[in-house]
Amino acid sequence: MATTESKAPAKDSRKKVGLAPNLDSGFYGQDIISVSQFTRENLEHIFGVAEEMRAIVKRVGSSDLLKGTVLACLFYEPSTRTSSSFIAAMSRLGGTVIPITQGVQFSSVSKGESLPDTVRTLESYADVIVIRHPEMGSAQTAADYAQKPIINGGDGAGEHPTQALLDLFTIKEELGQIDGLSVGMVGDLRFGRTVHSLARLLCLYDVQFNFVAPEILRLPLDVMNEIRKRNLPVTETYDVAEIVADVDVLYITRVQKERFSDLAQYEEVKDLYAITPELMEKAKEKMIVMHPLPRVGEISYAVDSDPRAAYFRQMENGMYIRMALLAAVLGKV
Ligand code: ASP
Repeated sequence: MATTESKAPAKDSRKKVGLAPNLDSGFYGQDIISVSQFTRENLEHIFGVAEEMRAIVKRVGSSDLLKGTVLACLFYEPSTRTSSSFIAAMSRLGGTVIPITQGVQFSSVSKGESLPDTVRTLESYADVIVIRHPEMGSAQTAADYAQKPIINGGDGAGEHPTQALLDLFTIKEELGQIDGLSVGMVGDLRFGRTVHSLARLLCLYDVQFNFVAPEILRLPLDVMNEIRKRNLPVTETYDVAEIVADVDVLYITRVQKERFSDLAQYEEVKDLYAITPELMEKAKEKMIVMHPLPRVGEISYAVDSDPRAAYFRQMENGMYIRMALLAAVLGKV
């Protein structure tokens, strides 16, 4: 990442969004960088707003809640769902978008512009910026320099807080509760930022964790330590068949090829896990299969018609959650 040597200016945690808030959920003018910013109470608030957003979309398609506001989407890494659901979210709330997504190579970033300068440029046109960047900590760096709110859309192998929110919202909508659940997380637990964020967020609840990964893709120690601090039960295994009958949520992830420095290592682990109809026969009748997507072979297409396959509903929930978050950060809910 090209950054400047100068130190970020000191600033208040509440940023200038230039709008008079109607209600203050605690997110007005805030950056959304990590799931550690969330409590059970403010999650309930966001989930309630997301349900209202779904009702608006189903009933009339859109609202003008954010009319006159601008979102900048700055994506230095590929994205389908995060970028398009943020764009759809803003559009459905009556706002507009500056999309520097697939086109980052055509922007001044390709001329060597630093992240702080690009962010300073975009905030002079937009009210809020979503950023995805391959380096861990990049969203925080952007936030340190920006006067407007920054939303982390994925910082390397770090965090993906808006994905974790939509994941948790999906669990609650599908199973009616979070406390008391047994959650299996399978695949690339080391580099999968969605796993890191969701596991951290689940620490706010009474859940049992069941991690399934090969040795080189085990959950990072810092995330494991957060779970241990909360004294939540944890199992770790290499074999998904060992946990499939016991879990209420089976969250499987893609092996993150782009994070491997040695592609031979990637080849060794890339096809270890696959959810098939045969495996699903062993699962509970009431449980869900989740995936942040894209899938590259971890779930057989034959599972898609199983009512327990929640990954497409999960993906749709992303738009409602992002509508709720944008409205919260811009002081409208
Ligand atoms: N879309 C998710 C992410 O950006 C998961 C993935 O890429 O595997 O982290």
